[in-house]
Amino acid sequence: MMDFLNLGKKQRAQRPFFIPVSERKQLLKKLKTGIQQFENDILKALHQDLGKSEFEAYSSEIGFIYQNISHTLKHLDNWSEPQRVKTGLSLFPSKAHIHYQPFGTVLIIAPWNYPFQLCIAPLVASIAAGNRALLKPSELTPETSAVLSRLIQHIFDESEVAIVEGDGKTIVPKAIKEYRPNLIFFTGSTAVGREISKMAAEHLIPCILELGGKSPCIVDKTADLDIAVKRIAFGKGINAGQTCVAPDYFLVHEEIETEFTEKLKTSFQAFYQNAIDNEEYTKIVNEHHFQRIQHLLKDTRVVFGGKSDEHKKRIEPTLVKCDVDSPIMNEEIFGPISPIFTYKTIEDIHEYINKNPNPLSLYLFANNRKLENKITTEVSFGGGCINNTIMHLVDPNLPFGGIGNSGFGAYHGKAGFDAFSHKKSVIKTGNWFDLRQKYPPYDKRSLRIIKLFLK
Ligand code: NAD
Repeated sequence: MMDFLNLGKKQRAQRPFFIPVSERKQLLKKLKTGIQQFENDILKALHQDLGKSEFEAYSSEIGFIYQNISHTLKHLDNWSEPQRVKTGLSLFPSKAHIHYQPFGTVLIIAPWNYPFQLCIAPLVASIAAGNRALLKPSELTPETSAVLSRLIQHIFDESEVAIVEGDGKTIVPKAIKEYRPNLIFFTGSTAVGREISKMAAEHLIPCILELGGKSPCIVDKTADLDIAVKRIAFGKGINAGQTCVAPDYFLVHEEIETEFTEKLKTSFQAFYQNAIDNEEYTKIVNEHHFQRIQHLLKDTRVVFGGKSDEHKKRIEPTLVKCDVDSPIMNEEIFGPISPIFTYKTIEDIHEYINKNPNPLSLYLFANNRKLENKITTEVSFGGGCINNTIMHLVDPNLPFGGIGNSGFGAYHGKAGFDAFSHKKSVIKTGNWFDLRQKYPPYDKRSLRIIKLFLK
């Protein structure tokens, strides 16, 4: 069954050999040129799959990758140089270096919400680190998956980068078994991430898991509300809330709840006038997710928004009130709905977050340095922003990844190169000096010397 996938053959074709940095750069340049050639097809596919506007598709999927490749090309020589580290006197006369070694082959599994970017961004890091790769795009965005397949086959020989499309439940276990990657890079849900991790453990394959979670957005009474609501509506509205780092729910200081609600409503209305018919506003990916989000609205009271169209698969930006134990607070919403809760003290904030610990992101809007310090140091989260949303993943100088429930490992920029490289430690010792007392038979002097060094 499914022998046509030839996963074993792909594996054999890609078996490790060292790829010089100059060749990796050529591959990255080839990738960029190929994407430029396919740009219109990619935009069209993203529109068909998710109704993404050209602006959103270019900025968050295609342009993001161009910037990623440019940044990598600029720094790759430097990143890949063996890194000299200090050695203690006890190792005299030695020099120590960290060498960056590719893992070999990497299986990259991508989700549907940014189906192009989340397949290609890990590939950029993987190529930079000198690996071969097999890509598995999401089957829920079939048009983008098909374009990715054509693009990869157009640019690369299968011995460099291969791609396999289709249902994850059947293909991924087969790929792990037959392609037998040296590293798995998975982006997707926590539940599937757990399954991937189990399958990988069978073969001792290391994993990087980029998962989701419920990312809180805290709005303090000291926040500049006029600017806060714009940045929040942007972070929640982009891709209709189907963003792993979208603010999931709001924790708002009780004194500003009404003002915040009014201003947020005005911002959403200004950004997405008549959201249901607005071509700039992304649709929900499929019927299943449309119904799932509708279902989450049960047991909630709509504060604003709430309109939807099943045929167009659009749900307008919606704010709801609900009980903290209601279903919408038990799973990542991954849609344009947000529950709002109020807090009085920082202990209240901790209590809400602890119900869904280790969120992928956290956002705090405040002009209160003490609160800022407490939140950034005391709360465990993957990454986040003060007085902004989403932007922490845009900066290639910042590692992007989760912690605990939201995943492990990080990438983007240098962190991506590191994630796809094994760090090989090598000590080189000079032959011109060799202390006799290091070797048996040991005497009192040997002990005195060793005590001098090891203290
Ligand atoms: P998903 O876990 O359902 O699917 C992700 C990938 O896994 C797909 O390619 C799919 O084919 C494959 N897959 C599905 N079921 C499988 C199984 N049983 N065994 C093996 N492979 C399987 O996730 P999704 O619905 O595509 O994406 C949404 C989730 O991804 C959200 O939780 C979101 O937060 C998360 N996400 C995280 C990031 C991040 O960078 N941390 C980015 C985007 C999305």
